[in-house]
Amino acid sequence: MQHYDYIITGAGCAGLSLLKRMMMHKYFCNKKILLIDKDKKNNNDRTWCFWEKQQGVFEDIVYHRWQQIDFYTDDFSARFDLQPYQYKMIRGIDLYSTVLNEAKQHTNIDIIYNEVYTVFSNESYAVVKTANNEFHATYIFNSIIFNDWKQQALLQNNIHILLQHFKGLMIETNEDVFDERIATFMDFRVDQSNGTTFVYVLPVAGNKALVEYTLFSEKTLQQDDYDKALENYIYSFLNIKKYIKTHTEFGVIPMTNYNFSEGRERIVNIGTAGNQTKASSGYTFQFIQKHSAKIIDALLENKNPLIEKNAFDKRFHYYDSILLNVLVNKKINGDKLFAQLFKNNLPQTILKFLDNETTLTEELKIMNSVSLTTFLPAAIKEIIKF
Ligand SMILES: Cc1cc2nc3c(=O)[nH]c(=O)nc-3n(C[C@H](O)[C@H](O)[C@H](O)COP(=O)(O)OP(=O)(O)OC[C@H]3O[C@@H](n4cnc5c(N)ncnc54)[C@H](O)[C@@H]3O)c2cc1C
Repeated sequence: MQHYDYIITGAGCAGLSLLKRMMMHKYFCNKKILLIDKDKKNNNDRTWCFWEKQQGVFEDIVYHRWQQIDFYTDDFSARFDLQPYQYKMIRGIDLYSTVLNEAKQHTNIDIIYNEVYTVFSNESYAVVKTANNEFHATYIFNSIIFNDWKQQALLQNNIHILLQHFKGLMIETNEDVFDERIATFMDFRVDQSNGTTFVYVLPVAGNKALVEYTLFSEKTLQQDDYDKALENYIYSFLNIKKYIKTHTEFGVIPMTNYNFSEGRERIVNIGTAGNQTKASSGYTFQFIQKHSAKIIDALLENKNPLIEKNAFDKRFHYYDSILLNVLVNKKINGDKLFAQLFKNNLPQTILKFLDNETTLTEELKIMNSVSLTTFLPAAIKEIIKF
């Protein structure tokens, strides 16, 4: 039986963000670390976008960044300067290959490609079982969702579940048609009959952009429906008649107030499996970065790396539940809600709020900017369940 100091199960965003930070600190040089994934991670299967004020750990692989964003609905449209924030894009393949190549230079890090069957723990050590092996560790950092969480969530009557589903196309045109300094953050001027629906347009060059058709709803669409909607948007809104597709991506992110377990004993859940997906927006990348940083700090201080939710986290969980309540029960259309938010608040405050970093005063101002008759009943219902 091989024993490791740390085992990281899942070499996706969370696993590799944590490993990257471990490789940045001398403290971890003589710790035995094992990384396990069933996949070689050599596909560009996703593109992460997020906002940040300062330089991040993955600054070197930021593929593109924008300081200005456009926001569109039928009722309200505007261009915003995000300063001091930048909206940044990182390609999945760049993060996977950078961290995995760096890890291969470290003799204290083993990488194996195998399916993980289960992880479990007692007070003294944690165990990973793969198809043909068993490994022990002082701590396991796990990003694999083993159970059918939706089944469990449906058994609880206070849980809302929406899916954020999207199809994105990287398109290239012969001529320059985009302004690569400006990203379309949300364009709601599209059909809203399938749920809250909007399009991102993320230009990375004058002739190249990622166009992503995104919905918040209960069910995904047929692939054909995303394709038609994208074709229509590119033709009618971007006014582009001729282009080639250089990359396609499809994703589904859970938007739920279901509590994924933070872990227990010597297992620390990370990433979506560890509750790092923001329930009301689906944004996860920056929450993973903050969580990884906290885990590293705890390990460096010889503390338990299982980071418990604090009152601050609980407050934002409550806001997320209210927002989900309103969207799931169709009390207001998403386009109207986001229009109210962007019309009445600085974009910087909205981004801070979506980062769970606002003060109570800022939150009250945001609440005051949206329809009280819509939100108050939902807020009362959610506080009763809390
Ligand atoms: C297409 C797409 C685009 C996204 N875009 C954004 C974005 O722009 N901004 C943002 O903030 N969030 C985004 N997200 C949400 C979130 O950031 C990502 O899902 C992110 O990858 C979550 O990180 P994770 O480590 O929790 O999961 P993953 O990155 O999915 O990593 C989990 C890893 O576990 C491995 N694994 C799973 N089961 C097993 C098993 N049984 N045995 C061994 N290995 C296993 C998988 O192969 C994978 O490598 C996006 C999600 C998707 C799907």
